[in-house]
Amino acid sequence: MRQIIIIGSGPAGYTAAIYAARANLKPLLIASSVEAGGELMNTTDVENFPGFPDGVQGPELMTKMQEQAERFGTEVVYDDVESLDLTGAIKKVTLGSGETQEALSVIFATGSAYRKLGLPDEERLSGRGVSWCATCDGFFFKGKTIAVIGGGDSAMEEATFLTRFAEKVYVIHRKSELRASKIMQDRAFANEKIEFIWNSEVVGITGDEAVNGLTLRDTVSGTEASLPVGGVFIAIGNDPRTHLIHGQLDLTAEGTIAVAGRSSKTSQIGVFAAGDVIDSNYRQAITAAGSGCAASLDAEHYLSMIPQDLLATAGGTELATATN
Ligand SMILES: Cc1cc2nc3c(=O)[nH]c(=O)nc-3n(C[C@H](O)[C@H](O)[C@H](O)COP(=O)(O)OP(=O)(O)OC[C@H]3O[C@@H](n4cnc5c(N)ncnc54)[C@H](O)[C@@H]3O)c2cc1C
Repeated sequence: MRQIIIIGSGPAGYTAAIYAARANLKPLLIASSVEAGGELMNTTDVENFPGFPDGVQGPELMTKMQEQAERFGTEVVYDDVESLDLTGAIKKVTLGSGETQEALSVIFATGSAYRKLGLPDEERLSGRGVSWCATCDGFFFKGKTIAVIGGGDSAMEEATFLTRFAEKVYVIHRKSELRASKIMQDRAFANEKIEFIWNSEVVGITGDEAVNGLTLRDTVSGTEASLPVGGVFIAIGNDPRTHLIHGQLDLTAEGTIAVAGRSSKTSQIGVFAAGDVIDSNYRQAITAAGSGCAASLDAEHYLSMIPQDLLATAGGTELATATN
C-alpha cells in the first residue's frame, strides 16, 4: 500500500509530487495516458511563470516539473484513473489497465477543461491566435484587432481586460442579449474599443500559421460573412474534471471540489484536492502549483497523524478512528 497517490500531471499534480517526494512519501502519480502534462501542453509561450525571465514553452515547463518530481523519487504512471473508492481509510484507485492501487491518502488534481467551439481549426491554431485565457495571452495581442466569443460574465471580463492591449475587441454572441450581469455588461458597453456582433456564431477559424480571421454565421438569416481578426478568445465556460468523484466528494455551486477554507481538505478524510479542479476563479499555472504544494503539506500532516503501529496492520476502520 502507498502512502500517497496523486491523480493528475499538471502544475498542481507535479508540485504536490515534488513536495511529497521530498518528504520521502514515495508518491505514485497517475499522469493520464494521452493528456500527461495538463493544459500547458496545449500552449506555446508561457511568460508569467516565475523563474523564466525570457518565457518558457508550455511543454518544456511541464517536462521540467516532471523531471523535478522524478528526481526525488516520484513514480509516474502513464495511465488514466477509471474509478475510485475514496470512502474508506484505505483509498482504492483503479487504472485503465485494470490494476487497482491502494493508498492512505489521495491528492486529486485533474484540472478543468475550457469549453471548446468544436471547430476543425481550433486545436491547430491553439497558441497561434486561439486562446482561452486573457490573463495568460492578452499581452501577445498588443495593437491587434481580436474577437471574444461568449455572452457571460467571463466573456465581458476578458473583453474588457483585452482592451488594455488590443486596438479593437469584437464580442461575438449567438443571441441578441447577454447573459452577463448588468454591471459587467455596462462596463463593456461603455468601453469604446469593444464592438458587439449580435446573433452570430463562429463557424470557422482561418489562418495558416496564425489566426487571420473568423467565419461568422448569422443565427437569424443564416448568411455567412468573414471577419478579419488577429486572435480569438473563447469564453464560453469551463468544466472542472470531477466526474470520477461524483457522489464521493462534495462539490461547490460552481462545480469545483469543495475544500475546507484555504486548505486542500475535501469532504472525505485523507482526500485532498488541488489546482483548477478546486478553483473557479484564478486558474493559472502558478496558483495551481501553489495549491499542489498546500495539498501535499496537508496530506503529509494527515499521514503523520496516523499512528505508525497501525500503519503496518490496521484495516480501514482502525485507521479512520485513529485519524479522526
Ligand atoms: C491554451 C492554454 C494556455 C494557458 N496559458 C497559461 C499561461 O500562459 N500561464 C498560466 O499561468 N496559465 C495558463 N493556462 C492555465 C493553466 O494551464 C492552468 O491553470 C493549469 O494548467 C492548471 O493546472 P492543474 O494542475 O490544476 O490542471 P491541468 O494542467 O489541467 O492538469 C490536469 C491533469 O489531470 C490529468 N487527468 C485528468 N483526468 C485524469 C484521469 N482520469 N486520470 C489521470 N489523469 C487525469 C490531465 O490529463 C492533466 O494531466 C493556460 C491554459 C490553456 C488551456
